[in-house]
Amino acid sequence: MNKLKTKIRDIADFPESGIVFKDITPLLKDHDSLSQAVNALALPYLKADITAVAGMEARGFIFGSLVAQQLGVGFIPLRKPGKLPATVERVDYDLEYASAGLEAHVDAIESGDRILLIDDVLATGGTAQASCQLVEKLGGEIIACAFLIELAPLNGRAKLMSYPVHSLLIY
Ligand code: AMP
Repeated sequence: MNKLKTKIRDIADFPESGIVFKDITPLLKDHDSLSQAVNALALPYLKADITAVAGMEARGFIFGSLVAQQLGVGFIPLRKPGKLPATVERVDYDLEYASAGLEAHVDAIESGDRILLIDDVLATGGTAQASCQLVEKLGGEIIACAFLIELAPLNGRAKLMSYPVHSLLIY
């Protein structure tokens, strides 16, 4: 995991002053690091009877899709408002540096689906909390939330008390 940390680059004051942005693109372009990260994210859930992985736009799509592939299940994109073409369900929430909404197609999740939620970064937890609410509104059950990176001082875990949370790299 320490090697993975060397592939995460801090960018100060992006997207706005005071934010230290965790840039994962060096990790993404290195095959060994990407494989190691995806394998480690999927490992705890290989026997958890997950029926689908859900991931948030945009970087949750990358890790979520790859983890879904590892688990042999499909992927459900949770998108920014206005992007999905069919009938959607929506949840609004606050980010570390903005406010936002997330949408999913109403037929993306079936009642009783066992969902693993994946994103790159757990910061304040607002995005993940909203994502869990969205999945539950559609009848899915959140089995766990897994993140490549957790920014521990922002205490995002406090918003996810009802769910098991697994983070690979804690800062
Ligand atoms: P939050 O809702 O505050 O937990 O923010 C999580 C979402 O915002 C994730 O989808 C991240 O991709 C993004 N994000 C928040 N803070 C950062 C950060 N410091 N570096 C990179 N991405 C971040």
